[in-house]
Amino acid sequence: MAGTAVRGRLTWQVSAVTALIDETASVKTIELQAPDWAGHLAGQHLDVRLTAEDGYRAERSYSIASAPGEPVALTVERLEDGEVSPYLTEELRPGDDLEIRGPVGGYFVWDGDDSVTPLMLIAGGSGVVPLRSILRHRSNLRSTVPVRLLYSARSLADVIYRDELDQEGAGVEVIYTLTRQQPQGWTGHRGRVDKSMLSEVAWPPDQQAIAYVCGPTPFVETVASSLVGLGYPAQRVKTERFGGIGGS
Ligand SMILES: Cc1cc2nc3c(=O)[nH]c(=O)nc-3n(C[C@H](O)[C@H](O)[C@H](O)COP(=O)(O)OP(=O)(O)OC[C@H]3O[C@@H](n4cnc5c(N)ncnc54)[C@H](O)[C@@H]3O)c2cc1C
Repeated sequence: MAGTAVRGRLTWQVSAVTALIDETASVKTIELQAPDWAGHLAGQHLDVRLTAEDGYRAERSYSIASAPGEPVALTVERLEDGEVSPYLTEELRPGDDLEIRGPVGGYFVWDGDDSVTPLMLIAGGSGVVPLRSILRHRSNLRSTVPVRLLYSARSLADVIYRDELDQEGAGVEVIYTLTRQQPQGWTGHRGRVDKSMLSEVAWPPDQQAIAYVCGPTPFVETVASSLVGLGYPAQRVKTERFGGIGGS
């Protein structure tokens, strides 16, 4: 059984695009039907491979946006000068095939154990994708583990999954910080996440929270070092870096 699961993870498989959902002007969710998928944990990612007619191939990693047990979904932000993300967000159509391999990663995961301490989820831009899987998993399990999500986006229009996040139920606090543009009368946080914002928003270190931090590499590094500076033990700060130079 374990051998089958490992073989499944390491082998490319063809999935079919079942739906494309507009999340923001530059972000789409891609829902897939993957008959050979062996299942995934909340927080894992997968690899996507595109092959051009001349045989040229490009591979990228994408976090899995759906919860364990749900059909595989990805949420992709289009980078104007990118090679793969413009294809996934602009060219792909329902019914198309998409080669995937996974799931990948055993560290940036939440296994649903709610006997443990609170969760501190911190996202920059599309870094919210694996955290959304964790939130959906929590909800599907009817877990009562307390969660705070601090989500840094450029503007309210750039918030991915906004309707879903705004409907999160008891035990989940969603806190936005808008870095570039705030609506008139905005009373929430503004500007990038830093140590002072975290000292206000994050669970105090004596609550033994586990932090999951995901986004562009410089964002993740700033947040992780600030949490450690505030007294979070480094092993309680799990990080996932998407690359790039930031901007959220
Ligand atoms: C584990 C993991 C999970 C990821 N999950 C997601 C996800 O859920 N959703 C998602 O949209 N992306 C995710 N990414 C990023 C994704 O793998 C690609 O890097 C991204 O889609 C850009 O690919 P591209 O081919 O379009 O751009 P490229 O052609 O690779 O790069 C174009 C330009 O954009 C810059 N760049 C590359 N990556 C980023 C980035 N992440 N942010 C800003 N600038 C960048 C490059 O330096 C270059 O200048 C994840 C990355 C990793 C490692």
